[in-house]
Amino acid sequence: MTPSIATVSISGTLPEKLEAIAQAGYQAVELFENDLLSFSGTVREAGALASSLGLTIVTLQPFRDFEGLEGLQRQRVMDYAERKFDLMEELNTSLLMVCSSIHPDAQPGLSRTVNDFVELAERARKRGLKVAYEALAWGRHVNDYRDAWEIVRTANQPNLGLVLDTFHIFSRGSDLEVIPYIPGDQIFLVQTADAPHLSMDHLSWSRHYRCFPGQGQMDIARFMAAVEATGYAGYISHEIFNDTFRMANPRQIAQDGYRSSLYLASMHQQSSVPLKQAIESIAFIELSAPAEHYASTKQTLAALGFAQIGHHPNKPVERWAQGGINILVNRDPSFAKQWLGHDGLSVSALGVLVHDANAAERRASALGFKVIRPEACDASHQMTAMQGVDGTLTYLLDIPGIEALWSTEFPNSTVPIADGTLETVDHISVSIPYEDYLSVVLQYRAVFDLDLSPAFDITDPRGLIQSQVLSGPTPGFRFAINGSHSPQTTTNQVIRRRGGSGVQHIAFHSRSIAHTAERVAAAGAEVLAIPQNYYRDLAGKFGLAPAVIADMERLQILFDADSSGQFQQFYVVPEGGHFLFEVVQRDGYLGLGAANAYIRASAQQQRQHHAASDIVEDPPNPIEHLKCL
Ligand code: MG
Ligand code: MG
Repeated sequence: MTPSIATVSISGTLPEKLEAIAQAGYQAVELFENDLLSFSGTVREAGALASSLGLTIVTLQPFRDFEGLEGLQRQRVMDYAERKFDLMEELNTSLLMVCSSIHPDAQPGLSRTVNDFVELAERARKRGLKVAYEALAWGRHVNDYRDAWEIVRTANQPNLGLVLDTFHIFSRGSDLEVIPYIPGDQIFLVQTADAPHLSMDHLSWSRHYRCFPGQGQMDIARFMAAVEATGYAGYISHEIFNDTFRMANPRQIAQDGYRSSLYLASMHQQSSVPLKQAIESIAFIELSAPAEHYASTKQTLAALGFAQIGHHPNKPVERWAQGGINILVNRDPSFAKQWLGHDGLSVSALGVLVHDANAAERRASALGFKVIRPEACDASHQMTAMQGVDGTLTYLLDIPGIEALWSTEFPNSTVPIADGTLETVDHISVSIPYEDYLSVVLQYRAVFDLDLSPAFDITDPRGLIQSQVLSGPTPGFRFAINGSHSPQTTTNQVIRRRGGSGVQHIAFHSRSIAHTAERVAAAGAEVLAIPQNYYRDLAGKFGLAPAVIADMERLQILFDADSSGQFQQFYVVPEGGHFLFEVVQRDGYLGLGAANAYIRASAQQQRQHHAASDIVEDPPNPIEHLKCL
């Protein structure tokens, strides 16, 4: 199979699109008719431009409202097709893609439709051209790929084939069972798009919300397996209509597209790319602590029950731990300056635990994501990091790698790991610039075995925040991603202060949140203040005893419950921090406390209002050179 992408998928003029597509690595492109009509040069020049960039034009598309017409209308549409054939000859492409008609005068009926396609195929054959037929999900009479296949099969023309488009198939919930029975050589084109599960009309859903495979919630892997069973060996072409993509940098979108294409290719049984692995847990969190916040960072960690159990032999890096949680505090000023938001305390890297770190690294690399090997950055350790498309750094570790890290990099452990109330990292919440949001989703889902929750909106006092949770098959890893159009939401404040993506909060699971909260209060660490009205509502909403609510209010603990259990949470504000620590106790509850996100965001906004001075108006430049631990 050969990857391709439709020009409609990205923004810009035709030359900008073609250059971005070629630059990303593609050698084939579907030419969307509007891009040709709006091109200032001749049709031949458009074809020559594609060719000069090494791009084969897979098809000219779409040809609309063709079948089911009668009389003069039918004659006119046949003539129109001949004019399309003229264009195709000048473009040097041989395939016309016809999508099923939405014409109000289109008549139904198998034999009528078959006759139309027999004539179109005969006309195309005289000119050495081919025709492919696609069932639009909102087609007037044909809206299911099985009906389109019935028409193609009955017309029985050697130069007439079928288009399979994942969006039209999944959006209608069509069964995939028929696909493996279609001969691969009668499928002329496979178009791929993903999309979030939404409840809306097919046309609007398609025009605004398609995204690259890996970014949505359709079962693309099952589709690819069905196509592989047909023996199809042609183009697999992304065809995406997406409002965000239309606004975005064409190079970034084309690059995402190509990585998604590599991701699809990795689903093939013969692929040599290592399989996806689950992230089993967060192996460590590295904090970059500038000198002025170093002492307070240690105080905050101690207040949460962490103890310093080791330090690097020749770098100013300490290992703090509690239960199964490890935090590296890096106070090397030259290191801190590498990081976005280096004026404050921020998360500079995460380490994630997988079964086989080397295989994860090879997979990330094969899918076009940047990996940074220790020798490339003169590191003392042996860890390889995957660099996020948003600049973040994720070290890939397996059990031997973790053991080597602790034994060789932090050998001076004299103190046992603190046995406090905090047990594990429950989740990490990150703020991502809106234009990078789907790029980050693609990277995590292409490299790791992660589910993507439906998107939900968090209402911040200053706008909406879109949020989704990436999670593995075990509860060891939950990653909440947040993006917002509105400039003053808490999400975009984090991004502005840091100058890019960043961790918004780190949530630890406590086996006794009251115990942790008492300890934090006794140590005098700042806890995010929750308005008293919240607690008045809690009494009526959940029927909790007044004494229980009074304790929650005293400790600023938020509460929620769902059908599977209860959830409590509070936030600690580290001095100079670009993020919050969250402490949660979940008793069966499955979510991340989204019901309280508005209260948390409001509390952050109010606190921000009182400390408005720590907003940096001019973000630092993105970091170009990374130096490892
Ligand atoms: Mg299509
Ligand atoms: Mg949280």
